[in-house]
Amino acid sequence: MKWSKLVKLEAPIVIIGSGLAGYTVIREIRKLNQEIPVTLITREPAYFYSKPMLSTAIAGRKEPMQLITGSREDMAAQLGITILAQTEVTAIDIKNQIITSAQGNISYTKLVLALGADQIRLPLQGDAADQVISVNDLEEYRSFRERITNKKRIAILGAGLIGTEFANDLIAGGYTVDVIDLANQPLGRLLPPSAAAELKRELANAGVSWHFETTIETITHHQDALLIQLKNGVQLVSDVVLSAVGLRPRTTLAKLAGLNTNQGIRVNRRLETSAPQVYALGDCAEVDGLVLPYVMPLMQAARALAPNLLGEEVTVLYPAMPVMVKTPAMPIVVSPPAKDAVGMWESTAQEGGMKACFKSATGKLLGFALVGTATTERAALAKLLPPVLI
Ligand SMILES: Cc1cc2nc3c(=O)[nH]c(=O)nc-3n(C[C@H](O)[C@H](O)[C@H](O)COP(=O)(O)OP(=O)(O)OC[C@H]3O[C@@H](n4cnc5c(N)ncnc54)[C@H](O)[C@@H]3O)c2cc1C
Repeated sequence: MKWSKLVKLEAPIVIIGSGLAGYTVIREIRKLNQEIPVTLITREPAYFYSKPMLSTAIAGRKEPMQLITGSREDMAAQLGITILAQTEVTAIDIKNQIITSAQGNISYTKLVLALGADQIRLPLQGDAADQVISVNDLEEYRSFRERITNKKRIAILGAGLIGTEFANDLIAGGYTVDVIDLANQPLGRLLPPSAAAELKRELANAGVSWHFETTIETITHHQDALLIQLKNGVQLVSDVVLSAVGLRPRTTLAKLAGLNTNQGIRVNRRLETSAPQVYALGDCAEVDGLVLPYVMPLMQAARALAPNLLGEEVTVLYPAMPVMVKTPAMPIVVSPPAKDAVGMWESTAQEGGMKACFKSATGKLLGFALVGTATTERAALAKLLPPVLI
């Protein structure tokens, strides 16, 4: 559907963003109400895919476009919604409840921001610094897969969840992989040193070369490859450099509209921003002070937001939400303790794995990391954890 610049569309519920957050909240709305008009606006092509599959597609022998499980047309028909795809939203007029998009103005009764997050780009030096790529959606992943076709060597900047999962997947695809991180272990923000050591060892055995406690100084063209000069003096030659150093919630649109933002777009437990009738969820949102860029929190948020959009009063609950690290060389499930939790890690090795529990002085379980064979204890231990938001 094409909207002329002069056309003004009116829609009771408008959602911006076609990622898991946007589509999940629409599914939750449709469970409760099949009639209410919903318009989805997105700068992506609006197909549906599961983003976590991006870091396991090579081992799963999937081409990027095979990850799509619903086209724009499928999604519009299945959910009974209007979709404006490849349409950037450039402004929100809170007072008059109108958004400005590349295809015209749209007035809303309730607006949901499901804008996601951007990959952080480090300012790198060298004549090939602009060759560094990052992956945070399917289109970027498709370019990445094109870039690595017929190449052998990949360097990954960042040993967090995304960098480490890509490292494992690329090794499985026969690539030579170097991973560089300022920290002294993989998944520094999620794992205790004991669990990280297991992951580091198993991925090294699988072929990953780790470069910890250093970063990239320069990237320069070198014959038909890239020369990476690390701060610790080591030089690497690679065909492609993938940056995965972290995410920054997309807050610009909200800031321009005058909404309260902090690390993310600030929302309360009903997912309401500081502006009336404007809500946020997913990677762009900071829910009651928490930015949790994972699938489980956005699903919990979508379940609470849908009834709120339909006139009920529901607050979001976050139970303990363990994250599965998709590293088949050494699978891990982790539920890190809250930032202000007081306690200690206790690690127990077992055949083919290890269990690390973060316990308070009174022995209460506040977090865990399960490695290898210990991942079978995930459900039992998750039940013992305190909720993240009651
Ligand atoms: C490789 C990878 C692996 C992952 N694995 C896991 C995992 O195993 N487990 C887990 O829990 N989490 C995982 N995650 C995180 C998880 O995928 C994200 O938390 C989740 O997909 C975020 O969804 P979202 O809808 O909030 O954001 P996004 O998917 O980023 O969607 C944002 C949407 O907003 C649109 N948009 C933004 N600005 C505008 C604008 N101005 N106008 C119009 N449209 C706009 C974008 O086009 C996009 O459609 C992984 C992430 C990656 C990258």
